[in-house]
Amino acid sequence: MKSEHPGINPAVPPSGNGCVECLTSNGWWLHLRRCAQCGHIGCCDSSPSQHATKHFHGTGHPIAASFEPGETWFWNYETGETIEGPKLAPPRWHPADQAVPGPAEKVPRDWESRLH
Ligand SMILES: [Zn+2]
Ligand SMILES: [Zn+2]
Repeated sequence: MKSEHPGINPAVPPSGNGCVECLTSNGWWLHLRRCAQCGHIGCCDSSPSQHATKHFHGTGHPIAASFEPGETWFWNYETGETIEGPKLAPPRWHPADQAVPGPAEKVPRDWESRLH
Protein backbone atom coordinates (compact mmCIF):
# COMPACT_ATOMS: atom_id res chain seq x y z
CA MET A 1 0.00 0.00 0.00
CA LYS A 2 1.34 3.39 -0.94
CA SER A 3 1.57 5.81 1.97
CA GLU A 4 -0.44 8.97 1.52
CA HIS A 5 1.77 10.59 4.13
CA PRO A 6 5.46 10.69 3.12
CA GLY A 7 7.64 10.41 6.21
CA ILE A 8 4.87 8.84 8.30
CA ASN A 9 4.55 5.14 9.07
CA PRO A 10 1.43 4.72 11.22
CA ALA A 11 2.27 1.06 11.95
CA VAL A 12 5.47 1.76 13.92
CA PRO A 13 5.09 1.94 17.70
CA PRO A 14 7.06 4.48 19.76
CA SER A 15 10.54 3.48 20.96
CA GLY A 16 9.56 3.88 24.60
CA ASN A 17 8.26 6.43 27.11
CA GLY A 18 11.24 8.75 27.17
CA CYS A 19 13.87 10.38 24.97
CA VAL A 20 16.17 7.62 23.70
CA GLU A 21 19.36 9.68 24.01
CA CYS A 22 18.50 11.35 27.33
CA LEU A 23 17.75 7.99 28.92
CA THR A 24 21.20 6.70 27.97
CA SER A 25 23.04 9.88 29.00
CA ASN A 26 21.29 10.80 32.29
CA GLY A 27 19.64 13.76 30.59
CA TRP A 28 16.18 15.21 31.09
CA TRP A 29 13.51 16.74 28.86
CA LEU A 30 10.62 19.15 28.90
CA HIS A 31 8.36 17.71 26.21
CA LEU A 32 8.68 14.65 23.99
CA ARG A 33 8.40 14.24 20.24
CA ARG A 34 7.79 11.04 18.31
CA CYS A 35 9.39 10.43 14.93
CA ALA A 36 6.47 9.54 12.68
CA GLN A 37 8.67 7.40 10.45
CA CYS A 38 10.65 5.15 12.85
CA GLY A 39 9.05 5.76 16.26
CA HIS A 40 12.15 7.35 17.83
CA ILE A 41 11.22 9.34 20.93
CA GLY A 42 13.29 12.49 21.34
CA CYS A 43 13.14 15.66 23.41
CA CYS A 44 11.73 18.96 22.14
CA ASP A 45 13.59 22.13 21.19
CA SER A 46 12.94 23.69 24.61
CA SER A 47 14.76 20.78 26.24
CA PRO A 48 18.50 21.09 26.97
CA SER A 49 19.60 18.56 24.34
CA GLN A 50 16.99 18.91 21.56
CA HIS A 51 17.31 15.29 20.52
CA ALA A 52 14.18 15.22 18.32
CA THR A 53 15.62 17.87 16.01
CA LYS A 54 19.00 16.12 16.09
CA HIS A 55 17.23 12.92 15.05
CA PHE A 56 15.81 14.72 12.01
CA HIS A 57 19.25 16.08 11.06
CA GLY A 58 20.85 12.69 11.59
CA THR A 59 18.30 10.56 9.76
CA GLY A 60 16.37 12.87 7.43
CA HIS A 61 13.10 11.63 8.93
CA PRO A 62 11.05 14.78 8.30
CA ILE A 63 7.93 14.46 10.47
CA ALA A 64 7.60 14.44 14.25
CA ALA A 65 4.40 14.05 16.22
CA SER A 66 3.84 15.37 19.71
CA PHE A 67 4.19 12.62 22.34
CA GLU A 68 2.43 14.74 24.97
CA PRO A 69 -0.91 13.32 26.18
CA GLY A 70 -3.85 14.74 24.23
CA GLU A 71 -1.78 16.46 21.54
CA THR A 72 -2.37 15.27 17.98
CA TRP A 73 -0.31 17.69 15.91
CA PHE A 74 2.57 16.77 13.63
CA TRP A 75 5.54 18.96 12.76
CA ASN A 76 7.21 18.96 9.36
CA TYR A 77 10.88 19.90 9.82
CA GLU A 78 11.39 20.40 6.09
CA THR A 79 8.64 22.96 5.65
CA GLY A 80 8.52 24.32 9.20
CA GLU A 81 4.78 23.74 9.34
CA THR A 82 2.34 22.03 11.64
CA ILE A 83 0.43 19.42 9.68
CA GLU A 84 -2.38 16.91 10.09
CA GLY A 85 -1.45 13.27 10.33
CA PRO A 86 -3.03 9.82 10.58
CA LYS A 87 -3.66 7.79 13.71
CA LEU A 88 -0.35 6.33 14.92
CA ALA A 89 0.30 2.91 16.46
CA PRO A 90 -0.40 2.85 20.21
CA PRO A 91 0.61 4.03 22.68
CA ARG A 92 0.01 7.38 21.01
CA TRP A 93 1.55 9.34 23.90
CA HIS A 94 3.64 8.86 26.99
CA PRO A 95 1.65 7.81 30.09
CA ALA A 96 -0.48 10.66 31.44
CA ASP A 97 1.03 10.23 34.92
CA GLN A 98 4.60 10.51 33.67
CA ALA A 99 6.39 13.59 35.03
CA VAL A 100 6.75 16.71 32.85
CA PRO A 101 9.57 17.64 32.75
CA GLY A 102 11.06 14.18 33.12
CA PRO A 103 12.37 11.80 34.13
CA ALA A 104 11.34 13.03 37.60
CA GLU A 105 14.54 11.93 39.35
CA LYS A 106 16.80 13.57 36.73
CA VAL A 107 15.26 17.04 36.53
CA PRO A 108 17.41 19.69 38.28
CA ARG A 109 15.84 22.17 40.70
CA ASP A 110 16.64 25.08 38.40
CA TRP A 111 15.28 23.37 35.29
CA GLU A 112 13.27 26.40 34.17
CA SER A 113 16.45 28.45 33.75
CA ARG A 114 17.99 25.67 31.62
CA LEU A 115 15.34 25.60 28.90
CA HIS A 116 16.11 26.75 25.39
ZN1 LIG B 1 16.80 14.10 24.74
ZN1 LIG C 1 13.05 8.56 12.82
